[in-house]
Amino acid sequence: MSASVPADLRNLRACLLCSLIKSVDAFQKDGCENCDGVLHLKGDEEKVYDCTSANYDGMIAAMSNDDSWVCKWQKMQRKVKGMYAISVSGSLPSNVVSDLKSVGIRYKPNQRDYSIQAKK
Ligand SMILES: [Zn+2]
Repeated sequence: MSASVPADLRNLRACLLCSLIKSVDAFQKDGCENCDGVLHLKGDEEKVYDCTSANYDGMIAAMSNDDSWVCKWQKMQRKVKGMYAISVSGSLPSNVVSDLKSVGIRYKPNQRDYSIQAKK
């Protein structure tokens, strides 16, 4: 992967929880298909910016959810097919992390990179 990111991808953001990449508009309109049950991004512009990051590296197309690294990392329900960032800079707001804890989700920002390296 040596191509630079095309200009039309600059409005994309990556979910800080599952790394799903979508446009800001799409996050606002539909939320994160993986995380909206806990993040509640849908219709909440401020939260979209809080819980997603425009600063991410790399993209992976997740087409097979059963053995996707994303699923392994998250150990959660099946993930939607789509584009996922390899690593995302930034972290969820502490109040969101608390919310996640209360529903049994442990947010480990560094785990993502680790998972990718292990797979190579
Ligand atoms: Zn997500």
